Amino acid sequence: MFMSLLSHTVSKCMQTWVYVVIPVMIYLGERMFRMVRSMAYESKILDAMTYPGKVLSLKMTKPAGFRYQSGVYVFVQCPQVSKFEWHPFSLTSAPDDDHLSIHIRSLGDWSYHVYDMFHEALRCSNLDLPKVSIDGPYGAASQDHSKYEIILLIGLGIGATPFISVLKDIANGLDKEGCAANHHSANGLRKAYFYWVTREQGSFEWFRDIMKEVSARDSKQGCDRDVQLSNKRLPGR
Ligand SMILES: Cc1cc2nc3c(=O)[nH]c(=O)nc-3n(C[C@H](O)[C@H](O)[C@H](O)COP(=O)(O)OP(=O)(O)OC[C@H]3O[C@@H](n4cnc5c(N)ncnc54)[C@H](O)[C@@H]3O)c2cc1C
Repeated sequence: MFMSLLSHTVSKCMQTWVYVVIPVMIYLGERMFRMVRSMAYESKILDAMTYPGKVLSLKMTKPAGFRYQSGVYVFVQCPQVSKFEWHPFSLTSAPDDDHLSIHIRSLGDWSYHVYDMFHEALRCSNLDLPKVSIDGPYGAASQDHSKYEIILLIGLGIGATPFISVLKDIANGLDKEGCAANHHSANGLRKAYFYWVTREQGSFEWFRDIMKEVSARDSKQGCDRDVQLSNKRLPGR
């Protein structure tokens, strides 16, 4: 009885290795692939800012050959926080910008840790800013905006980040082509409506500089912006 049970267990174990080894190989392959891809693009931090609601914005050098469409995201790693964790963040810069930018809202362990490290480094001017690596760009649904004449962008809280890139891209296009005069950009876009709903008044700070830049370029109102404050948090909640 014991021998038959043992031989049955051994034969099952011989088959089980497939279910263990294949996922482990896929996992290790993905890790190595990400490591190799991240080495392809070296990006240095040019500027870092912290905003209300524990939001961190990072402005980074745009690596040579890094091309993307607005609305895409990149995976970000901060080796001082974790060598193995990569988190996705939408680019808030536009494809024509000479830099890359992201806005990170602190929501969990990793993002709080990154925020605290940058906050500390910005506070103590003798500390170097932490390093970050990027892997990407990866496509998202919002990158097809250039196919339409009229677009409606609705963003909630930090979820508006891909649309900030889209708005910047539109404003850059209007600026470059001088199309504002006839309200018609080269890719066929006539009007962009942007609705941003957020819960805290402090959130308006997050994209203030970018919005100012967009407003300055979009003098003919090719972009309509509507920002709404939906709720006020009570102290201590
Ligand atoms: C394509 C894409 C683009 C993105 N772009 C941006 C961007 O531009 N800016 C941005 O700020 N974020 C963006 N995000 C989200 C961002 O990637 C995550 O917020 C980040 O990875 C969180 O990592 P973390 O370890 O800090 O938080 P996590 O620990 O993963 O926590 C995330 C959330 O889960 C909750 N949580 C964690 N553990 C538990 C638990 N045990 N029980 C209940 N709830 C729990 C946390 O409270 C928090 O709300 C994007 C995500 C995707 C997929």
